[in-house]
Amino acid sequence: MIIKQIKLSKMETFCYLVGDEKTRTAALIDPAFDTEQILQIATELGYAITHVINTHCHSDHTAGNQAVIRATSAKLLIHAADAPKLSTVVNAAFSKVLGGKGSPEPDVLLQDNDDIIIGATVLLTIHTPGHTPGGICLYAPGHVFTGDTLFVEAVGRTDLPGGSSRQLLQSIRERLYTLPGDTIVWPGHDYGPTPSSSIDYEKRHNGFTR
Ligand SMILES: [Zn+2]
Ligand SMILES: [Zn+2]
Repeated sequence: MIIKQIKLSKMETFCYLVGDEKTRTAALIDPAFDTEQILQIATELGYAITHVINTHCHSDHTAGNQAVIRATSAKLLIHAADAPKLSTVVNAAFSKVLGGKGSPEPDVLLQDNDDIIIGATVLLTIHTPGHTPGGICLYAPGHVFTGDTLFVEAVGRTDLPGGSSRQLLQSIRERLYTLPGDTIVWPGHDYGPTPSSSIDYEKRHNGFTR
């Protein structure tokens, strides 16, 4: 498995390319902006994009879905509880403000513990509600992509519709802090002192989860 962290030009959003070296196929997690550059990076690395996975329904993670899917015919995956918010007029309006487009309908509605198969690479869906009802993290041994659930030394906001600080802390403590301590945390935004950290680091230094 290869991982390429791509810092986008707006909102400090991170997009991730997760590639399977055997089949040269890859997933894009949250390709919200700069879709031409993202697709060029994939081409330069020699990977065909087969999956677009949204960690949740917010436009700063989904505004590039349409451009990437038109260019690649990738399948779109999102948790079932966030799917109803994905292709709405409101989401399309926010996406346009951010320079993107409204999202196509998802192809796959994810549930907790679903495996996402990219060639010979498997990403495990961990349902982590709190920032949104259908927020997910994606896990492969050694790595977890945490969307807007867990940032480096911070956590996602819970004051938006469907948010719950109690649920968010429960998701982080019970579903993320139980992963092996050396698991690398790949957040959805570059809000911390470093662009990634580890589960052990967050347990020790994240003031929001103590
Ligand atoms: Zn969000
Ligand atoms: Zn976000």
